Amino acid sequence: MNIDFEIFSPVHQIQDKLFDEHGLKVFIKRDDMIHPIISGNKWRKLKYLLKQAQTENKTHLVTFGGAYSNHLLATAASAAKFGFKSTGFVRGEEVNNDTLFLCRLHGMNLIFTDRESYRDKSALFSKHFSDYPDAFFIDEGGASPLAAKGCSELINELTDRYDHIFCACGTGTTAAGIINGIAQHQFKTQFHGVPVLKKGEFLRNDIDHFLTEPAEYQLHTEYHFGGYGKVTDELIEFVKQFVASTGILIEPIYMGKMLYALYDLIEKKHFATGSRILVIHTGGIWGLLGMKGKFI
Ligand SMILES: *Cc1c(COP(=O)(O)O)cnc(C)c1O
Repeated sequence: MNIDFEIFSPVHQIQDKLFDEHGLKVFIKRDDMIHPIISGNKWRKLKYLLKQAQTENKTHLVTFGGAYSNHLLATAASAAKFGFKSTGFVRGEEVNNDTLFLCRLHGMNLIFTDRESYRDKSALFSKHFSDYPDAFFIDEGGASPLAAKGCSELINELTDRYDHIFCACGTGTTAAGIINGIAQHQFKTQFHGVPVLKKGEFLRNDIDHFLTEPAEYQLHTEYHFGGYGKVTDELIEFVKQFVASTGILIEPIYMGKMLYALYDLIEKKHFATGSRILVIHTGGIWGLLGMKGKFI
């Protein structure tokens, strides 16, 4: 089976009075439209990993994530689509939620793992799968050079030029891929990453690790809102306003923080008049289901 499908990820302009006031044009690359479940950047990250698994005659994808992990769900759905078995190690005690329901619905076997043993992923893999030669290890979040390679292809699809590209960062793999893509095309585009975890400066090591050549980029580390998975009333209010005024659905954990950062930086006059800014919609909207309680 050919592990690929045609990518549909158009670029739309976002209208906002704020952008007009500052003489900016803001666009969004709709990677969320790539697939309803294999959200956003997750397919780009998985594509070459699945091809590698196929090359090695592996038929069972094994990966890792938290109970709300978009990566687990994307792996479950990709496995189902391309005929792999899948197992997900889930961090923490056994729970049930909408993300895990959707993982199971796509045939993923879930193994709940205490936080201590979860830390050593290769040990977990060896313990459960050393007798299974068909099992293929995929790191948490898919973090790997192959995942970065898949993400770099996003840049090949651009038909216009942008002065700035914004993207939310978890592991930083997607950021690294995009930075590599910009370098390959020798674009002058400045990359801006918004880490959604606390202590985002550490991410620089992880990003640099996946770069094909040294590159300049900006990390805006002040927009984590308390850390991974944390939100504030102000962030939720921002998400509500963004969705209601643009018709583009986003969740707060990644896209909300990244777009909040962009709007805040625009207000702080971070960009020259006339700049063209592209934000990447990395998807993840199923994560909203776990956050309904925050929106009351
Ligand atoms: C996973 C995810 C990211 C982060 O991607 P990394 O490559 O881990 O940095 C960003 N946005 C959304 C919606 C995600 O699900």
